[in-house]
Amino acid sequence: MPSFVILEKCDGCKGQDKTACLYICPNDLMVLDKETMKAFNRAPDMCWECYNCVKICPQQAVDCRGYADFVPMGASVVPLRGSDSIMWTVKFRNGMLKRFKFPIRTTEEGQAVPLAGYETGTEDIKSPVLCTEPASTGAAELPGKTW
Ligand code: SF4
Ligand code: SF4
Repeated sequence: MPSFVILEKCDGCKGQDKTACLYICPNDLMVLDKETMKAFNRAPDMCWECYNCVKICPQQAVDCRGYADFVPMGASVVPLRGSDSIMWTVKFRNGMLKRFKFPIRTTEEGQAVPLAGYETGTEDIKSPVLCTEPASTGAAELPGKTW
């Protein structure tokens, strides 16, 4: 289900050249209405709910209507980005709260190593395993199959 902007919270990233949500969306969906200085998701049906815009918004002005199997009615999943981590607050339907903190990746832009250094080969397209498997799983082979 797509992301949406909470208009009361959005400040248009204070009129900077490029808003944070526009910068981060891998699908180029977020745009800024220059009249109202509010962002919006211009093609909700193209949104794959990756949560990037939700996590990066400095005003917590973006939310996602989560799929029911992930976020049932009455529950919520809210990320809060800090300087070195993201705190996820999960609220269950019975009111229980749980928080999980995960560090933010610190690799400089453009410095990520493709495939994390794992080898791939030209025959991989014919293989049923996922890219970099089984090496990236840490196992020589995956249970029940030989590759
Ligand atoms: S990142 Fe947040 S505050 Fe900035 S334009 Fe997008 S929704 Fe608005
Ligand atoms: S959830 Fe992901 S794909 Fe959807 S608008 Fe936000 S950044 Fe783009």
